[in-house]
Amino acid sequence: MSAAKATPQLSSATAPPHSATVMGTYGRQNVVFERGEGSWLIATDGARYLDFGSGVAVNALGHAHPKLIAALTAQAGKLWHTSNLYRVAGQEQLAQRLGEVTFAERVFFCNSGAEACEGAIKIARRAHFVAGRPERVRVITFEGAFHGRTLTALSAAGNAKYLEGFGPPAEGFDHVPFLDLEAVEQAIGPETAAIMLEPIQGEGGVHVATPDALRALRALCDKHGLYLVLDEVQCGIGRTGKLFAHEWADITPDIMAIAKGIGGGFPVGAILATASVSEGMTPGTHGSTFGGNPLAMSVANAVLDTVLEPGFLDAVQQRTLRLKQGLAELQDNFPDIMVETRGQGLLAGLKVKPPAADVVKAAMNEKLLLVGAADNTVRILPPLNVSDEEIADALARLSRAFAALAKSGAT
Ligand SMILES: *Cc1c(COP(=O)(O)O)cnc(C)c1O
Repeated sequence: MSAAKATPQLSSATAPPHSATVMGTYGRQNVVFERGEGSWLIATDGARYLDFGSGVAVNALGHAHPKLIAALTAQAGKLWHTSNLYRVAGQEQLAQRLGEVTFAERVFFCNSGAEACEGAIKIARRAHFVAGRPERVRVITFEGAFHGRTLTALSAAGNAKYLEGFGPPAEGFDHVPFLDLEAVEQAIGPETAAIMLEPIQGEGGVHVATPDALRALRALCDKHGLYLVLDEVQCGIGRTGKLFAHEWADITPDIMAIAKGIGGGFPVGAILATASVSEGMTPGTHGSTFGGNPLAMSVANAVLDTVLEPGFLDAVQQRTLRLKQGLAELQDNFPDIMVETRGQGLLAGLKVKPPAADVVKAAMNEKLLLVGAADNTVRILPPLNVSDEEIADALARLSRAFAALAKSGAT
């Protein structure tokens, strides 16, 4: 034991590019960032990176946004945490405001996307239970989905690679091909409780559910007495140019999980629901120690203030057009690298020919940060308040990265 515990003596040539004691669950890039300014991240060596990954759609307003700093520091000087044994003013305020701009009549606050997704599943099952339909526990989910890394969220998504070695998956999920309406209808049985999906699959490779598909799923839920559960953890909070992606389809879900962007970098998750589906969620049925604490709520309220400012979402749609146009040009110039551009709003996915990881690396060499996804796709997720100049700059960097890849014979 003592030998195993001894500090390994590694020369700089053999040292791993990152900590040996942080558990190795991520393939990390060998860079440490010290501070951020808007769309930029500054590394410890002073290098400036254009951040078009936004911490995977989390830094919705970029880094060090003055309003978020003001909200957090003002709250930090007053009160951090009380637990949910007491009323929390920031929760009541945020829940009310979310209710005013969405379908939601009840909101539960938690800390992450996975927690929001699991809670959403619990609410759907519980609603059937209290309505005298305890057998309705199964949830129809879609191949390519991602709902987080807890065991039930992994079981919901059903990605075998992520479940390997972690014991029996949680029961109660029926996986069908993404948006295959016939398969959905066939999967519906007397035990079905809900249909759950991301309006845009992010981790799965930026696959967009069309408005028609979302409307058809809503109709199927209504026909069969099921709840529609949307996971807008990645595509919500203005990412598509509307506050929530499902608004493009003119439908509303019964339950929705959100996280990522709502905290602007502070860990916040939430479950939005109708009043009727929430009836069974009585004292003691669900909880979260940290969920909705005053610090988190101060930041989330400030994020919502900004995203709801008149013109903000219109500006996101304008920026989307610029990005789309630039990506179309890139695709014309580099047909051997780019296969397809997918996505909606500032959640763009480039399906590429070289390994996606090589494209992320080549962009990083140009000091442009992007995020990989499944289906050999690279995600472009700039802050929602990115400037036109920064979009042009990112496209120029991407063009140089593609040129370098083409030159190296990567295609
Ligand atoms: C990131 C993500 C999650 C999981 O969120 P965590 O905060 O990592 O638990 C769930 N669903 C979607 C769509 C996501 O993008």
